[in-house]
Amino acid sequence: MAISTTNPATGETLKTFTALTDSEIDTKLELSQQAFEKWRKIPLVQRAESMQSAAAILEHNIAQYAQIMTLEMGKPIQGAILEVEKCALVCRYYAENASKFLADVTVFTDAKDSFIRYQPLGAILAVMPWNFPFWQVFRFASPALMAGNVGLLKHASNVPQCALAIEEIFNKAGFPPGVFQTLLVGADKVSDLISSDRIAAATLTGSEIAGASLAAAAGKQIKKVVLELGGSDPFIVLGSADLEAAVTCAVTARMLNNGQSCIAAKRFIVVEEIADRFEQQLVAKFATLKVGDPMQPDTDLGPLATPNILKDLDYQVNQSVKDGAKLLIGGQKLDRPGNYYPATILTDIPPGSPAEKEEFFGPVALLFKVADLNEAIKLANDTPFGLGASAWTNQAEERDRLIDELEAGAVFINSMVKSDPRMPFGGIKKSGFGRELGKAGMHEFVNIKTVWVK
Ligand code: NAP
Repeated sequence: MAISTTNPATGETLKTFTALTDSEIDTKLELSQQAFEKWRKIPLVQRAESMQSAAAILEHNIAQYAQIMTLEMGKPIQGAILEVEKCALVCRYYAENASKFLADVTVFTDAKDSFIRYQPLGAILAVMPWNFPFWQVFRFASPALMAGNVGLLKHASNVPQCALAIEEIFNKAGFPPGVFQTLLVGADKVSDLISSDRIAAATLTGSEIAGASLAAAAGKQIKKVVLELGGSDPFIVLGSADLEAAVTCAVTARMLNNGQSCIAAKRFIVVEEIADRFEQQLVAKFATLKVGDPMQPDTDLGPLATPNILKDLDYQVNQSVKDGAKLLIGGQKLDRPGNYYPATILTDIPPGSPAEKEEFFGPVALLFKVADLNEAIKLANDTPFGLGASAWTNQAEERDRLIDELEAGAVFINSMVKSDPRMPFGGIKKSGFGRELGKAGMHEFVNIKTVWVK
């Protein structure tokens, strides 16, 4: 894939970039090695000052960074603004909490002194997706850098200006040269990079194919990886739920980021007693969404990020309808320039159709009707993925069963699934392994050293 900025709202390629040569990559890896040797010795308070500066730079330039994101990948500008704010938040969170998360932990044993010490690993390669082009990077970089590691970003090829802007933020914030670098390279370079002695570990957020490929290459080198992959999150609505609140949240949970979020609610699993009302209200709300230029503040639904995503989604919907699914709204690519797809709902989804098993990465809701809680949990778990799950109920017994029995990295009751710097984030099954955010996220890329003094 060419490294370029192509406006998804118009299809116009605005800027192209030349990928780094092997010798340029080598120079950057060498610099990151040198930077690590110094950065790991910089006191935490000083690291925290740089991280707070990064937060301040983000906050002072919200509009500029939001526009770069919307220009390159088409997210509605209001969402882009919130994304920049959240990046500042995660920087401040780790600046304030790193000393607590990295402090020695005494363990009482028969030794004179025994404790756990957390130490950095080295250069961490981050292979990142375009869908939250700032947030995905900052949620990796802020804990990793605070822990004393250095970062190398291989961003998605359609968001190079975001990648360069992020590197500039860290440089301006006072991080020494080489502590955070962007590598403008294609996916074909990832295996070579992870094989380099100068890269200690890697994290990838993206598709299953990319994750498996990186994990295989890292496995050959016995290197640690964290994988944040796809999801097909259930959104379960039971009879006792506040139906109006559930429908309103369902729209946001599905449409956020033009439907291109790993933790978007994708499969709406509703008990029969309220299914018709849920369906009518969801259709009505989808019909009112404003589709248009993502730079306009009142746009609800902008274009998909690339023509390929549009093509894949259109195929998944058409094939599901051919297989017997019923279309309630949308379902046809919009006849206008750019990668626009309308808000769409499929129901009566037959076994074996794409809608039954695949992740739909766009504004398409898949509606399933079930008899009761047992059937809802069974269907929710009947997927290769296990990222998040949202469930709506006002009964304590139902709530407890949902929390215990849903196979997912996160369960949200009466709320949509979202990431929060204070809580761990990640999946099980084909959604990946390892965690980001919270204390657990910081501990992924450290040597958890056992110290025993007799
Ligand atoms: P993608 O194609 O896998 O791209 C993600 C990153 O991986 C890009 O930097 C891409 O580089 C690189 N890449 C692609 N193929 C690769 C390979 N074979 N080896 C190594 N790197 C490779 O993902 P996407 O389709 O853009 O993103 C959407 C997917 O990401 C969805 O499945 C979504 O659910 C998932 N996602 C998960 C999370 C989470 O936290 N769990 C968050 C966001 C998105 P190029 O751009 O150069 O190809």
